[in-house]
Amino acid sequence: MKQRLAQILFSQGFGTRRLCAGLVWHGEISVHGEVVEDPDAEYETEGLRFTVNGQEWPYFDKALVLLNKPAGYECSQKPKHHPSVLSLLPAPLRERGVQPIGRLDEDTTGLLLLTDDGTLIHKLTSPKHHVPKVYEARCKHPLTPAMVEQLLAGVELKEPEGKFQRPPEISKAEGAEIVDETLLRLTLVEGKYHQVKRMVAAIGNRVEALHRPQFGALTLSPDLKPGEWRWVGSPAEVWGQ
Ligand code: URA
Repeated sequence: MKQRLAQILFSQGFGTRRLCAGLVWHGEISVHGEVVEDPDAEYETEGLRFTVNGQEWPYFDKALVLLNKPAGYECSQKPKHHPSVLSLLPAPLRERGVQPIGRLDEDTTGLLLLTDDGTLIHKLTSPKHHVPKVYEARCKHPLTPAMVEQLLAGVELKEPEGKFQRPPEISKAEGAEIVDETLLRLTLVEGKYHQVKRMVAAIGNRVEALHRPQFGALTLSPDLKPGEWRWVGSPAEVWGQ
């Protein structure tokens, strides 16, 4: 679809319509390597790449990004004790209203997806759609095959600190394996509150560190350092298509 340049910038989070027109007038926008000074110039948005102050941006109708979440950041939009993961993203993405798809605890590291597509958030967090999430839990005590069997059969979730009284919930791992004496790899399709920590507590162990290397078909590449993010070209990549 063709759109006016100022409208394109507005839709991509670069400020109000007025500010976006101003960016163009001031010669801060290039398209296909050429400075464009007419905010009404029309471009096909599909596959468009434009440059704002020398930085290249791809056009996406809906944004979908993958963040390598470091410890010490909260997934909440109104964080209480630590900065929000949103503070790790550039302003245009925050301006577009991207939100985490599910949550990782403040001390959990690894792959976090964020988007401004509400339908996608719903699809990827609903257990109905069966999107596997892989976790690596460093546990306090040695793991046993009996513990793995329990996780695969289903356990009644426990709050590790015993602080909260919640109605009993059963959770079953889709996959569970012992990687080394105290490292457990767990595959879940749900995203319940503190799910891994509560499942591990239920088998009489305790999570000391938690990392998510995989969400659906997406994995963390070693090139993406903690705190760094990248675009995901299409939601189909999450399903491995
Ligand atoms: N399960 C947890 O306990 N914590 C997370 O951050 C994610 C899954």
